[in-house]
Amino acid sequence: MAVYSQFDLIALMAQPECPICRLIQNDVRRFVDGLLYESSVDPSSQQKFRASRGVCAVHSQLLRETRGYSVPMATLYEAAIDEVLSVLDSAGSLPVNKLRRNSGGRQISEKLKPSKRCPCCVTVEASERLYTQVFADGLADHAFVQAFQQSQGLCLTHVRRMMEHAMPQDARTKFVQAQRAIWKKLLAELDLFMARSGERGDGKPVGEEGTSWSRAVNVIGGLQNVFGSEYER
Ligand SMILES: [Zn+2]
Ligand SMILES: [Zn+2]
Repeated sequence: MAVYSQFDLIALMAQPECPICRLIQNDVRRFVDGLLYESSVDPSSQQKFRASRGVCAVHSQLLRETRGYSVPMATLYEAAIDEVLSVLDSAGSLPVNKLRRNSGGRQISEKLKPSKRCPCCVTVEASERLYTQVFADGLADHAFVQAFQQSQGLCLTHVRRMMEHAMPQDARTKFVQAQRAIWKKLLAELDLFMARSGERGDGKPVGEEGTSWSRAVNVIGGLQNVFGSEYER
């Protein structure tokens, strides 16, 4: 994980996405690159990949989009497929309770289940703890608060993480006031977008509010490939 500072967060706040999501996205990509790079030389990474049965459905998409690592990818997935195959092979040796219908099938299903969580989801949570702390510390700095007020704010999940984070009352008040103003502005933009669009729209040219709907998607759902299916909300 790279060490990012308040300055990195200030720079990212000029972009339309949640800055914490953006830093996490970088960390997950870096983690995936490292995993693929190490897979052929580090047998322990293959062991972990067996236990986690690869990565979750959301982070699988990230692996699919990663170019230039097809052999390391094959190495890792060979280990995962070998693991699930050996579980199926052991099916005949499991004791079966004849009184309970399908107890054998359930036992196999349980054994096929990952014994470790998706490593990308684990990376997301570790990065998030770090950046929540950096963000909370930044609220003591005037320039940081100003950049936050002028930004598109944090996504819903990272607002929640900030609310759960222990911080001085005045920092929490500053955070809530700024985030509230940002969401109110977005709501007004969505209203304006709807008033100007569609068949019943008044036909005026669409300005900043033109992207309000896609920014709203990111606010509620977070950025793509960040919150995996094994992320604990
Ligand atoms: Zn976020
Ligand atoms: Zn995941």
